[in-house]
This record gives sequence, structure tokens and C-alpha cells, in this order.
Amino acid sequence: MKVALVTGASSGIGETTAVELRKAGYTVYAAARRVQRMEGLAAQGIRVLEMDVTSDESMAEGVGKIIAETGRIDVLVNNAGYGSYGAVEDVPLDEARYQFEVNVFGLARLVQLVAPHMREQRSGRIVNVSSIGGRIYEPLGAWYHSTKFAVEGLSDSLRLELKPFGIDVVVIQPGGIKTEWGGIAVENMRKTSGGGAYDRQVRQLAGFHGQMSRASEPKVIADVITRAAEAKRPRTRYSAGFGAKPMLFARGVLPDRAFDALFLGLMRRFG
Ligand code: NDP
Repeated sequence: MKVALVTGASSGIGETTAVELRKAGYTVYAAARRVQRMEGLAAQGIRVLEMDVTSDESMAEGVGKIIAETGRIDVLVNNAGYGSYGAVEDVPLDEARYQFEVNVFGLARLVQLVAPHMREQRSGRIVNVSSIGGRIYEPLGAWYHSTKFAVEGLSDSLRLELKPFGIDVVVIQPGGIKTEWGGIAVENMRKTSGGGAYDRQVRQLAGFHGQMSRASEPKVIADVITRAAEAKRPRTRYSAGFGAKPMLFARGVLPDRAFDALFLGLMRRFG
């Protein structure tokens, strides 16, 4: 039986992905900090791990437990993440560093922990959940986008490094998905930059995100992740969910200033 580890499985995309991988026949380990939020997964035969992706100890313990119990790991879905929003001028650098700890260094540390086992098996798949925000950009989202741009670059280098060992690396680029992500990002943005010099942009972007986060169900992405895990020859990137394809297309064909104008135009519709 194939074994999968999914991070950020207490909610949204990760939770649904754990369910879909289980349905596809995997032994699934669901990891997050809020274990009580994963009781429903445990009831479906999914194994629950308490894991904080900013804690080296908890990540090493989690991977150690998987290897002790099953002796292998076939799929790592690096999905845990959140949006630290606010103007660059306003976001304390400690918060920016924490955003990188969760979205980039946690992901990278798990790669370090699973890669030796995958190399030994001479097979494995690492699925990194980036975002369309790993290609496009918004005002007040500089730190979030920086982390997702980093995930994109790291994944490309990693794909080449791990290719000789039969391990593939796939990037997932969700568009707007109905999860807790949008509420957390907007709350961070309001707390950090609301009521000040950037207040108008805060209100506009909050309206834009409100629209985006009402869009697609997490299953849309869980299905794509399952496909990426199962495909014999996966694509390097999969995009799906509300707005993903048009946004990536616009970014690909428009010069920077034209994309700036497009995005600011979209935001102005909200105030
Ligand atoms: P949710 O907020 O619903 O889920 C985020 C998950 O990440 C939770 O399970 C949370 O678990 C976990 N997480 C956050 N911080 C940590 C931490 N320090 N250690 C361990 N786990 C952590 O959001 P989504 O499901 O939407 O987000 C999943 C991924 O998808 C993220 O990487 C996000 O950036 C990306 N994405 C989402 C989009 C959207 O529109 N929703 C669009 C594009 C990308 P807990 O708090 O219990 O630890």
C-alpha cells in the first residue's frame, strides 16, 4: 500500500485531499497543529499527526512515526500555509519571517526529512501547493507572494535534483477556493494596515478576496492533487479553481504595467 503525508489537513484543501487520497487507496497521514479538528478524518481511517511546520522537532517526529509504522513514504503533499497580508511598510519583519517559516522553510524541511526514504525506495512524489499567487502579485500581499514565488523556484530546482532518484516534484497553483485562507488573510491585512495610509487598498482588496474565496470548492484542488500523485508522468504544474486559468494567462501575455492596470482595475470595482 502506498503511503501519503498531507500537511495542513485540519481544514480546507488539505482536509479534502486527505479524504480523496484515502479513497484512492493510500494509507494517509494527516498533519496539522489542531488535532481535534481532524477527528472526522480519523473516523475515516486516516492517521492523524500533530505537526507544526515551524517546529523541526514535530516534523522529524511525524516523519519518524510514518517510517516506523509503514516503512515507506510515497507522496508528500506540502499544503500547510497562510496569507500574511499588509503593506510592506507595516508588516513587522518578524511576521514576514514567520510567513516564510510556515510557507517555505516548513515545506523545505519536510522535503529534507522524506527525501532519504524516497531515494532509498527509488520512487516518490512531492506535491507542493503554491498558488496562482506564485505567478501573479497583489498590493498588500508582498510577503505571501514572496513565499509562493519561492515555492515555485524551489520546486523547479528540486525537480531536477531529485530526478536521478526516480522522485518527481509537482507544483499546484490554486485560484480562489472556499476555505479559511481568505478570512485569515483579510483579517491579517485589516489588523496590519487597516485605518492607515493604505486603508483604501485594504478595503478594495478585502472586497476582491471576498469574491475570490466564494468561488471553488476545495475538492477541485484535492482532485488535482490526487491526479498529480497518481499520474504516471505528471505535469510539472497544475492550476485549477476560480480565476486560475484567466489570471495565469493574463500574467503570461501582458507586460508588467498592463497587468498592474488590469489588477488595479479589478480592485477598484470594490471601492
Ligand atoms: P486553510 O486556512 O483552510 O488551511 C490551512 C491549513 O494549514 C490548516 O490545516 C492549518 O492547520 C495549516 N497550517 C497553518 N499554519 C500551520 C503551521 N504553522 N503548522 C502546520 N500547519 C499549519 O487554507 P487552504 O486550505 O486554502 O490552504 C492550503 C494551501 O493552499 C495554502 O498553502 C494556501 O496558501 C494555498 N492556497 C489557497 C488558496 C485559497 O483560495 N484558499 C489559493 C491559492 C493557494 P493548523 O492551523 O491546524 O495547524
